[in-house]
Formats: sequence, structure tokens, C-alpha cells
Amino acid sequence: MAQPTPHIDLRDYIRDIPDFPKPGIMFKDITPLLKHPDAFNATVERLAAPFEGERALKVAAIESRGFIFGAAVAQRLGAGFVPIRKPGKLPWKTHRSEYALEYGTDALEIHDDAVGPGERVVVIDDVLATGGTACAAGELVRRLGADILAYSIVIELTFLNGREKLGGTPVNVAVHY
Ligand code: AMP
Repeated sequence: MAQPTPHIDLRDYIRDIPDFPKPGIMFKDITPLLKHPDAFNATVERLAAPFEGERALKVAAIESRGFIFGAAVAQRLGAGFVPIRKPGKLPWKTHRSEYALEYGTDALEIHDDAVGPGERVVVIDDVLATGGTACAAGELVRRLGADILAYSIVIELTFLNGREKLGGTPVNVAVHY
């Protein structure tokens, strides 16, 4: 059983990898955090903390690193888990949302029975950068009639102003840069 963790500076467990996966990107590598039990536990605690005690909640997480945290948060909150995936991965009827990348577009999909009208959803991902990914995920949840209680994100790259794309929806963040 996980115990409450002492204060931990999560930045000590996040590694900067320059020019990955392409030149100009400073990639936030969370694998040191994942392999350290106290750091991983503290991260899940921070992602879940604002929603402890909330009932009838679903946690939706974005493929793929969002899944690692989303499943742990859902279990901690006693909430159901909903995967939001890259195109072509989900086997049932899906809704799709496309969003702009620096070059070209990408898309996310959700099962059409994943959430329903009136349900309250927390959307989890590892990094909030320009906000396009989180915005597309939120659009899918809302298209199915559910409400987004908040986004809960491990790392916010504040200087990229991704929050501005999220239309004032609350954003809970474990660590800011
Ligand atoms: P964005 O749509 O620009 O907010 O990008 C967020 C998505 O891209 C997240 O799902 C992240 O996994 C990934 N991502 C963006 N920037 C980074 C970064 N610097 N390091 C690691 N992952 C990133």
C-alpha cells in the first residue's frame, strides 16, 4: 500500500533531452521519475489531490505516457478509466478530433460509449506544451456530452501558453517549467 510521501522536487527526476525526437525540441524524459517509487507516488498524489472525495468521476488519459499516470490516478480516486488513443487503435465505434502540429496534423480518438451526458471527467497527460493535444482530448469528451472537471498534467511548459487553448477549464499541474 502506498504511503504519503515527503515533499519531493519532481524536477530532480525529470531529465532534459535536447533535440529529441527532432532538432529544437527539449524533451522532458520522465523515466527517472517512473523508476523512483517516492517520486512516482508523489506525482500520482499531486495529480489526484484536488479530486479526492469526488464521486461519479471518470479519468480519461491520452496515449501513451498519459496512460501510465491516468490509470494510477483512476485507481487512487476509485474512478473509471477511459483511454484516448491515436487513430486506428480503438476497436469499437469512435469519435475523432484532429489538431494542428508544427508541421501537419495529428488526431485522437475516443470510443463513443466511453463517457456520457452529465458525467464528470478529469483529463490526464504527461506534458502540456502548446495545448493542442489536451484541447483535442477535451473536445472529444465534450462531444460525448460529458463535462471536464479539470485537466491534470504532470509537466506544464508555462512559456508555451498551452492553457490559453483550454478555454478557462481548470488545470492542475504537478510541476511547472
Ligand atoms: P502539445 O499538444 O503541444 O501541448 O503537446 C503535448 C503532447 O506532446 C503531450 O502528449 C506530450 O507527451 C508531448 N510533448 C510535447 N512537448 C513535449 C516535451 N518537451 N517533452 C515531452 N513530451 C512532449
